[in-house]
Amino acid sequence: MGQSMVAITEADCTGCDLCIPHCPFEALLPLATNPHGRDHKKRPVVVLTTQCVGCLSCIGSCPTKALHEILMPPISNTSPLLISSEEPDTETVPRWGKKGLGWA
Ligand code: SF4
Ligand code: SF4
Repeated sequence: MGQSMVAITEADCTGCDLCIPHCPFEALLPLATNPHGRDHKKRPVVVLTTQCVGCLSCIGSCPTKALHEILMPPISNTSPLLISSEEPDTETVPRWGKKGLGWA
């Protein structure tokens, strides 16, 4: 069985934030700014690849089906989770405490 991860099709993401509390690993966060030329008024949510463990808990939470599973090859010399990548600049979303989003 291969490793799975998720990705977000930015053009389909309305920035509704519904998926954020569905990730127990806080791997889904809104971009700090809306990319230039984007059709939607609200900034998109992105997957932080260093946080995502591929549990797929979030996969059914997106009303526009912007979230999709990516299957990694079963035979791989390097885990995609170990490849360091530069994380985008994201907003902070409080998850815990009185005003936190919690976990869906
Ligand atoms: S697959 Fe799991 S860890 Fe990755 S973004 Fe979705 S809920 Fe979070
Ligand atoms: S639920 Fe879908 S449309 Fe809403 S922020 Fe998440 S990925 Fe974007």
